[in-house]
Amino acid sequence: MTKFNELNLNPKVLKAIEEAGYESPTPIQEGAIPAALEGRDVLGIAQTGTGKTASFTLPMITLLARGRARARMPRSLVLCPTRELAAQVAENFDTYAKHLKLTKALLIGGVSFKEQDALIDRGVDVLIATPGRLLDHFERGKLLLTGVQIMVVDEADRMLDMGFIPDIERIFSLTPFTRQTLFFSATMASEIERITDTFLSAPTRVEVARQATASETIEQGVVMFKGGRRDREASAKRKVLRALIDAEGDKCTNAIIFCNRKTDVDICAKSLKKYGYDAAAIHGDLDQSQRMKTLDGFRDGSLRLLVASDVAARGLDVPSVSHVFNFDVPGHPEDYVHRIGRTGRAGRDGKAITICSGRDEKALAAIEKLIQKDIPRIDNPVKTEEPKEDAPKPERKAKPTDAKKGESRKNDRKKDKEPKGRGRRDDKSPAVVGMGDHLPSFIALSFDERRAG
Ligand code: AMP
Repeated sequence: MTKFNELNLNPKVLKAIEEAGYESPTPIQEGAIPAALEGRDVLGIAQTGTGKTASFTLPMITLLARGRARARMPRSLVLCPTRELAAQVAENFDTYAKHLKLTKALLIGGVSFKEQDALIDRGVDVLIATPGRLLDHFERGKLLLTGVQIMVVDEADRMLDMGFIPDIERIFSLTPFTRQTLFFSATMASEIERITDTFLSAPTRVEVARQATASETIEQGVVMFKGGRRDREASAKRKVLRALIDAEGDKCTNAIIFCNRKTDVDICAKSLKKYGYDAAAIHGDLDQSQRMKTLDGFRDGSLRLLVASDVAARGLDVPSVSHVFNFDVPGHPEDYVHRIGRTGRAGRDGKAITICSGRDEKALAAIEKLIQKDIPRIDNPVKTEEPKEDAPKPERKAKPTDAKKGESRKNDRKKDKEPKGRGRRDDKSPAVVGMGDHLPSFIALSFDERRAG
């Protein structure tokens, strides 16, 4: 097996790797690092959890250790589809470059232009950005991309989902033709293939097993949910969710609950909180500081249940998530793979339970086709199909401060927050004319849920 010290990485990078406790490179690292260090373009087909972030940050740091940054001309550029992913990549740089003097700037929505401008003015080695925000800076004349020697596109398939491909093409065209490109995608849709054919030059292709095949440590199950009366279906589903969480008991140390729509993310989190569960919401309409606070709480274990949309949770690296609950079956089968991949990381056991209502059966079949196995059916823990909801359990009172947490948000819709195009399935939210996603909880929650508060 290859060792890190056989990969020609900078000794200071090797020291940081040792301090991070990694013993040997993962397959994507083993494949991508030598090629990247030789200055070759890399096409990495891998998803989060495979060690792909280090597969580009480690060689980048090694290459950038030689040379110096010039004012307003970043030497390298990492493009990420979401702010969270960009922040995570920035953390990776901090970890692996801690023994070197490299500078970086993070250009994401919600972080002030002024601070980032000051950093860029001084010159940065690494610029990590979401595409929309990067172009905003560029158009304000604050940034020159002609000094970019290395450009990374991370999670290109998600960029495609979010409608960022035109932005990516534009950014490619603003960087020098001679740049080195490291390009990562979990899947190779034809549109992605077109981009790589156009902008990558004789890339080294490194493909690692899809998480669908690697996730043997994740126990999966699906509850086939018959909603009964349509007007009560949503609250009945939330009751099923609570029962599923309860059934897992202490084994469920923490969980991510995925909903397809932003409105449901909010409603679900509010409903859980009202029933005394320690839950908070995360999706693209919450302001940056709120999202970071929620994520930090989830990472450090002070928040047990994170209710999330696909985009917000994409690429989230929380090593020990015991459970994933799919409140809805995702519309795109790959999203299922990404969602359940939040648990069972680094060889740990994990459990992923999906609630499938009648209209989602087709989507479930598509998932089973993709992962090439049937997801075991588990009994609905709520026996009555026509729900008559119980009063909340008094012993699990939510902290009063928690009840406020997930609710504050700004109507702050920027390009790089939530998907356009195919990814905007959140727009199919239940229609309340004139309210959009801001569906007040007193309308959305069932009578019992309201009383529970
Ligand atoms: P990523 O696929 O980049 O999201 O990485 C997933 C997780 O694997 C992160 O928590 C990394 O810190 C960790 N990781 C990356 N490389 C290694 C390695 N060679 N050995 C062990 N863990 C690693």
